[in-house]
Amino acid sequence: MSRNQIKESGIAKTLARKELIDMVPYQSARRLQKADKAQGDHVEQRSIWLNANEASGDGRYELNADCINRYPDFQPDHLIDAYSDYANVPAEQILATRGADEGIELLIRTFCTSYQDSIMICPPTYGMYAISAENHAVDVIKVPLIENKLDIDSVLNQASRAKVIFLCSPGNPTGNLLPSEQIQTVLDNVKESIVVLDEAYIEFSAEHSVATWLDKYPQLVVLRTLSKAFALAGLRCGFTLASSDIIEMLSKVIAPYPISAPVADIASQALSENGLLVMKNRVTQITAQRTQFSQWLASQSWCQEVFPSAANFILFRTSKSELIFNYLKQQGILIRDQSKQLQLANCLRISIGSEEEMNAVKTNIERVMATNAELEKSEQQNNNNNRKQEA
Ligand SMILES: *Cc1c(COP(=O)(O)O)cnc(C)c1O
Repeated sequence: MSRNQIKESGIAKTLARKELIDMVPYQSARRLQKADKAQGDHVEQRSIWLNANEASGDGRYELNADCINRYPDFQPDHLIDAYSDYANVPAEQILATRGADEGIELLIRTFCTSYQDSIMICPPTYGMYAISAENHAVDVIKVPLIENKLDIDSVLNQASRAKVIFLCSPGNPTGNLLPSEQIQTVLDNVKESIVVLDEAYIEFSAEHSVATWLDKYPQLVVLRTLSKAFALAGLRCGFTLASSDIIEMLSKVIAPYPISAPVADIASQALSENGLLVMKNRVTQITAQRTQFSQWLASQSWCQEVFPSAANFILFRTSKSELIFNYLKQQGILIRDQSKQLQLANCLRISIGSEEEMNAVKTNIERVMATNAELEKSEQQNNNNNRKQEA
């Protein structure tokens, strides 16, 4: 490579792996917010954040900052034991990671060879599976959901081409559970691929976890996180549950000290008896708010579809999606536009916040829809008048 070449495009672009040059990184809620701000978009100081499925509240913890001069354990015992008790899975079948996102990346880096292997996803689904694959030059086989359920025949037919199959239940952004018969059919028939069940939202429908199936299916991997029901998105702590063989293999790939001491400390508090009680109360409250909000949505004439949700957010379809999204944003209420996802034209996703936050959402949507109705009415009258004059 000549020095001139480097000068023209910059050293990063000249030397980087070629699949990274045009790659668009994951458009997280936080990144989108920053881009809006840079564009000079007006975002209220005291914004209501309902765009990343986080828990509301102030999220305070006491931090034990002793012994920070020492490296932490690779997998701190107190943390793994606490999660083992909570999930009812043996410690040797658990790997703590920097969020479930790191679990996704580890699975791809461990099982897929670049420029050769593929993963399977079932869109509309969580964006990080495809981004992590692209990042490692791994192909993505897409088998779209049919009415929010798996297209079982296509999944089984194409499974042999995928090293890792990512299923998400409850699904993001759809919110619904996959039928457990479908998951079982996949596991009974696909024995030569890793089958991942992303259970990021499982606390909102805990009885549907497939973690109890780990003994029966050696190819099964379950992803968990403290970011959603545990209200610790800022902590970056998740767990991969799998056979000890798989955990051992993933442990070769993960960084040597993935879980910092303060993270392990706070995560253990969240998994204590009292922490679990707090989490369960939060889940009860969010579930009640979710039911109310989804009933309200279903009663609105401008709302064409409310997706059933077993998670802490609701997806809905409305021909007024742009109007609602932009008005709420102006008012400092941030939600997530999903309309560019496969099958999700005109769909918006709202994370369930506190009662006050949900009331603010309703009031503001009612206001913008009322204004819009008047506008449409006067346009209609104008049209009628014009027509009369012409006649
Ligand atoms: C939020 C989310 C994750 C990532 O969780 P982190 O632990 O914060 O990395 C993974 N999967 C799904 C489906 C999610 O919604």
